[in-house]
Parts: sequence; structure tokens; C-alpha cells
Amino acid sequence: MGKRLTAAVIGGGLAGLSAACTLAARGHQVDLFERNSWLGGKAAQLELQGFRFDMGPTILLMPSVLKRIFSEAGRNLSDYLDLRRLDPQWRCFFSDGTVLDLREDAGEMNRQFQGLSADSALAAGYGKLLASSARMSKLSEKYFFWKSVGSIRDTFDLKGTFQPSVLKDLRDMKIGHALGGVVRKNIADPRVAQMVDHFTQYVGSAPALSPAVLLGIADMQLTEGIWYPMGGTRAVPAALERLATELGVNFHLGCGVEKIQVSGGRATGVLTQAGQSFSADAVVSNCDTVLSHRELLEPQATRFASRRKYEPACSGVVMYLGLSRRYEHLAHHDFVFSKDAEAEFHDIYKLGRPAADPTCYLCCPSKTDPSVAPPGGEALYILVHTPYIRAGQNWASMFPEYRKTILQKLSQALMDDVEGRIVCEDHLTPADIRDRYRAWHGAIYGLASHGRFNGAFKPANRSPDIRGLYFAGGSAHPGPGMPMVLMSGWIAGDCAHQDAA
Ligand SMILES: Cc1cc2nc3c(=O)[nH]c(=O)nc-3n(C[C@H](O)[C@H](O)[C@H](O)COP(=O)(O)OP(=O)(O)OC[C@H]3O[C@@H](n4cnc5c(N)ncnc54)[C@H](O)[C@@H]3O)c2cc1C
Repeated sequence: MGKRLTAAVIGGGLAGLSAACTLAARGHQVDLFERNSWLGGKAAQLELQGFRFDMGPTILLMPSVLKRIFSEAGRNLSDYLDLRRLDPQWRCFFSDGTVLDLREDAGEMNRQFQGLSADSALAAGYGKLLASSARMSKLSEKYFFWKSVGSIRDTFDLKGTFQPSVLKDLRDMKIGHALGGVVRKNIADPRVAQMVDHFTQYVGSAPALSPAVLLGIADMQLTEGIWYPMGGTRAVPAALERLATELGVNFHLGCGVEKIQVSGGRATGVLTQAGQSFSADAVVSNCDTVLSHRELLEPQATRFASRRKYEPACSGVVMYLGLSRRYEHLAHHDFVFSKDAEAEFHDIYKLGRPAADPTCYLCCPSKTDPSVAPPGGEALYILVHTPYIRAGQNWASMFPEYRKTILQKLSQALMDDVEGRIVCEDHLTPADIRDRYRAWHGAIYGLASHGRFNGAFKPANRSPDIRGLYFAGGSAHPGPGMPMVLMSGWIAGDCAHQDAA
């Protein structure tokens, strides 16, 4: 081992926890500063009158990433988390009354497709799309994962692009193509296309504006599965907190950081909002990368703002409803789709206004974990994506009307008595998401992945401007979602470790 670092991690979201565990597992001394009173950031939990809700993420993909973080410390993930695999992965309800389960098994999908269309082209197109998705997943592993990448130059040897193998990789990634276009080229059925489009909602971006390589997410989900941690998603940060504690990480809760201290082009520590100064050889910021540069660093200290313009990913409205009944026809994860996907995405991503007919994602965790609700009840979670907060939008006045829109849609589509079944409720608006998690414009998923050529690239984990400064989280490489931010924390920790060698 090289020098033993003293490391300061700003933010105790999943990425900050992952960075802290990785650094501590490599023998470094770690202090983690979190402005809230809990660890896990968006992976928070709400308890209400005997109901338990995950407040943020509910769909866990790629447990292999978590396994790798635990194995850094020589631990088995299964000693910390009880994970259950879910299949059907999603139940999809379409406006024409069609119900389609997204299943892991391609044969199962083909059987369902026969009920949708007599034309075998649907199954063939879906199969072709999945083959392309599998290839993109492999290429993501090769070019994007487990290393700090901020632009095409960091991962492709541009001098070597004329090598036939690299050219083939670029062609298979369908560089310059949007995911929405690739989906429609293979699938004419609007329902199946709408379902596959929705993988871009994992990164809060419009399918028509997102690079085709994001199609790799489908393969990652279908081959590695969707998982539910018993106890809820909250069990993930709880497991990481336990690991970090065992590894000797010092937690400073309720302790916001005001500034990252820099001297001679190197990060030297952090200054807390309470005015305390902590010196450090390495600083990992788990705060939003745009806000880290705008608020925690002096603007002239970096070239971040001039290097590239970023756009926030979408935000959302989340409703937590304690219900006095369960709905047998719902699965653990459900999508109640909009009638017109194009109009919906146009509203959210182009016009910046809540969609008139939104797609609603529902989570019914009692299907897997009856302890989330009193007997016979459901801890229903409803997420509707909205635009990131635009100037003049006041969600305190917008929410009551949008709540009506959402509940009306659900009662018409599949839960006619839902309002009358509400025992207790709470909600998050985009403004709450901005304020609770210090998320830029209330974005749920960090930065939008828009741009056919560079949409997949986020700010690198190793600061190109300040030595000893690293970024981890949904607005850093490789992007948002639990597995990606966990990987991002690992990369930030690994970079700091490598730089100390
Ligand atoms: C409603 C919702 C649903 C989602 N659904 C899914 C899903 O189903 N599956 C999935 O994989 N992902 C989902 N996501 C996305 C996923 O939750 C995020 O990508 C991930 O949790 C982000 O982790 P993070 O560590 O980057 O950031 P955060 O969780 O935002 O953590 C950042 C932390 O930094 C702290 N902080 C900020 N500034 C400071 C400061 N100056 N000083 C000290 N601390 C500071 C914040 O308080 C926060 O705790 C969802 C998110 C939301 C909100």
C-alpha cells in the first residue's frame, strides 16, 4: 500500500457510503460528513401509522456491484443483505387495456407477444433488440465501467479508432443514434416500444434524445435480475453503514460542508457549515457535481463551467399511500402507461411542464414483504416523472391539482376505489427533492443523458482541475441509479487510492 490517506467524504448517499467503504477497506482513514440526520440520501424511509415506505429508489439492479464493494473488505454481501429476485420484473398496463409482464425469460415474452400480434416480426424484433442490448451491456463494461471517464477521450484511444475492432465496437454501440429510434426500427408495436423506451426513465431522460448505448440497461436488468432487499431499499444503505462502521469510518451527521479547501491546485480538506475545518489528503464529493463546483469550490478554481453545459435529469412527484386493501392484479413493480408516449415526453423534457396524461410507476412491496403494511393493507408508492424545476414553478400550489390527475388516472385505469382506501398519506414534490437532498433543480437522476454522441458521459470521478478531489454520485460518472452510483463511489475511492500509490 502507498501512503495512508486521510479522506473526507462529503455526503452520505449511496455513492458517498460506497466511496467511504472502498477507501476504508483499502486501509485509509475516512471521515464522512452528511448534512441530514440520516445516511443513504435519497434511499430514505418513511414510517407512517404502521406503514413503511421506501421514499426514493425501489428497483434494485446489478447486485454484483454491491457484492464487489463488500468483497473489497473481504465480506460476503449475503451476510449483510437478504435479497429476493422478482419475476415478473414489471407489470405493464397500457391505455388500450393490454397487460404485459416484463419477464426475464425470452420464451415467456414470445408467448405474450403472440397474444398481442399474429405477426412473428414482433418477437423477432424484440429478440434482435435484446441481442443488441447484450452487446451494449458488454461494451459498457469494457469502455465505461469501473474507471473514471468524463469524455470520449478518456475511454477510447482516438488515435486507434481506425483499428477494425474499435470501429466495430463503436458501430455496435450505435454511436450517433438515439435509443428511441433504435427501438422503433426493431419494434412496430407501440405498446412494446413504450415499454422498452422506459429503460431511459431509469436515467430520467427522453428516449428520443438519449444515446442508443443506454439500451444496455435492458440486458443488465434481464440477465442479472431485479431484486428486493428484505426490509426495503433502506436495507442497502443500512448494510453499507454497518460495513463502514466495522471498517472504522467516522460519521459526522447533521454536519453540512460549506467549502472544499484548495491550496496550490490540490484539495486540502473541508470547512463545515459550523465553521470547523478538517484537513484531508483526498476529498470525495457526493454532492451534485454542478453544485459542488458552483457552491463548494471557488468558480475560478476549475474549468468545469466552460468545459461542457449539462442539463438536469427529470424530477418527480412521489406519493406514499397507506391503503386498507391490497390489489391482487398488481405486481410488485407496475407501470400504468400514458396513452401517447411522445406527447408525455414532449411535455416533460421539451416543454418543461407536468404531463397531462402521465405514466405512473407503482410499487406494491407487500407482494414480497408483508411487514410493510398492517395485515391486508398496502404501502403503495406512486412515482410520476415531472420536468426538473423550471423558473416560476411553485410545487406547493401545483401539487394538489396534480395529485388529482394521478389518482383520477389510477382509479379509471385499475384501482376504482383507491381514494376511499387511503388510511394515511404523504408525498414528495420536485421542490422537496431539491431541498432534502440538495439536488440541482430537484433532479431525481442527476444529469440528463441527452445527446446522441456525448449523452452517456458525465463529469469524471477524478477532478481534471484539482488534485486530490473526486466525485461520486448520480451526477458523476457512470451516472444515476443505485448500481451506477455505488460503482461511482467505488471508482472515486479507487482513484484516490491509486493516486496515493
Ligand atoms: C423518487 C426516486 C425514485 C428512484 N427510483 C430508483 C430506483 O427504483 N432504482 C434506482 O436504482 N434508482 C432510483 N432512484 C435514483 C437513486 O435513488 C439515486 O441515483 C441514488 O440514490 C443517488 O445516490 P447519490 O449518492 O448520488 O446521491 P444522494 O442520495 O442524493 O446523496 C447525496 C447526499 O449528499 C448530502 N449532501 C449534499 N450536499 C451536502 C453538503 N454540502 N454537505 C454534506 N452533505 C451534503 C445530501 O444530504 C445527500 O444525503 C430514485 C430516486 C428518487 C428520488
